[in-house]
Amino acid sequence: MKQTTIYILLFFTSIITAQTNQKIYDIIEAVSAERIEKDIETLVNFGTRNTFSDTLSDTRGIGAARRWIKQEFENISKDCNNCLDVFYQKDYVTKKGNNRVPHDAWVVNVIAIQKGTKYPNSYIIMSGDIDSRASDTMDFTTDAPGANDNASGMAGTIEAARVLSNYKFEHSIVYVGLSGEEQGLFGGKGLANYAKNHNWDIVGVFNNDMIGNIKGVDGVIDNRAFRIFSEPVPANEPEQTRNLRRFYGGEVDGISRQLARYIHKTTKTYMPEMNPMMIYRLDRFGRGGHHRPFNDLGFPAIRIMEAHENYTQQHQDIREENGIKYGDVLEHVNFNYAKKLTAVNAINLASLASAPPAPKEVAIGGIVEASAKLKWNKVDGAKGYKIYWRDTTSPTWDYSRYVGDVSEFTLEGFVIDNYFFGIAAIGENGFESIVTFPNAIIRN
Ligand SMILES: [Zn+2]
Repeated sequence: MKQTTIYILLFFTSIITAQTNQKIYDIIEAVSAERIEKDIETLVNFGTRNTFSDTLSDTRGIGAARRWIKQEFENISKDCNNCLDVFYQKDYVTKKGNNRVPHDAWVVNVIAIQKGTKYPNSYIIMSGDIDSRASDTMDFTTDAPGANDNASGMAGTIEAARVLSNYKFEHSIVYVGLSGEEQGLFGGKGLANYAKNHNWDIVGVFNNDMIGNIKGVDGVIDNRAFRIFSEPVPANEPEQTRNLRRFYGGEVDGISRQLARYIHKTTKTYMPEMNPMMIYRLDRFGRGGHHRPFNDLGFPAIRIMEAHENYTQQHQDIREENGIKYGDVLEHVNFNYAKKLTAVNAINLASLASAPPAPKEVAIGGIVEASAKLKWNKVDGAKGYKIYWRDTTSPTWDYSRYVGDVSEFTLEGFVIDNYFFGIAAIGENGFESIVTFPNAIIRN
């Protein structure tokens, strides 16, 4: 073989190994539909997990449910040499001032932290909800199995902990069960404040809420599609940032949107059979979820969810009316689909937790020039950087160029007006950070 041919072969081999990593395929393989089914069934069997339900019984109510979840995380930790730090994080909510709170109570979240080896203060969070509700959200005694809403997200989070605790990661991964979702996102608020008070550097929050239904109320059956909801730009950004955007762009390029694009891309790469839908909005029309309290404080956070909802099986007392069976019961959950969406979470948590941090400052310039200039801060642990760009109408980062271990680069022949640009840091292992959209201007 000629020397040049060998070089070309080596070149292509290195491209292939840089694009995919066997560890990620192993993680997909390891996620178990049977264990997810078992855990959803256990959660359903607590009768109701309404946040204001009984806390003393060992068999019924939110108290029994959260103790079981904590015990599960502790069992997982035992199997990985105590790799998880498991604890309750709680806040007291009162009836006064809250019209959906039937009585004063502690809203208790269960937290399990797998500490990062290199960036321990950098956190990637996966959450599900402990709590469920009946038709009347104030009713804390009637059965509310909440099999899909949201035992599915909770079971997926526990299963991700089981799988990922077999590995070590550079960033910290946090597995969370949140409470008080149905009465006003109390648990998410509590944990978001806790994270802020503890100066957590949050790379992203993956809020899983309803990941098990494949048959929509419209009759569509689809076990491949799922939704990633992300707000366009941070809601708490300064007025000045919003004003500058009129002139420099970025209306659909906030930090949560970049996280959504990352998940979309990783899924397309490793699970091409899946059909991730990026939904360009905070959440469903007029409805909410536990990623919002994180967004409220300026953290990147998205919601992962089934594509086809069934409203007769959400927030409904179990009953039959006019031949329609109401209720969020076990038999409607598709465990294989919940497994797939759990795998989507796990591979993205693993990829982000293995990648260098994203550059924090990215500056761009190129007004009235036939070139676009980018300049960024180097980050610890990157072997180099990749410039991403796309047409202004495209939802995804469609083009990229690896530019090596430099902190500035000029793309010749690019008219800056016609594209959006961003920078990702690339690790020695090939894993990439989230893309950072420019947040400063280079003036000539
Ligand atoms: Zn709900």
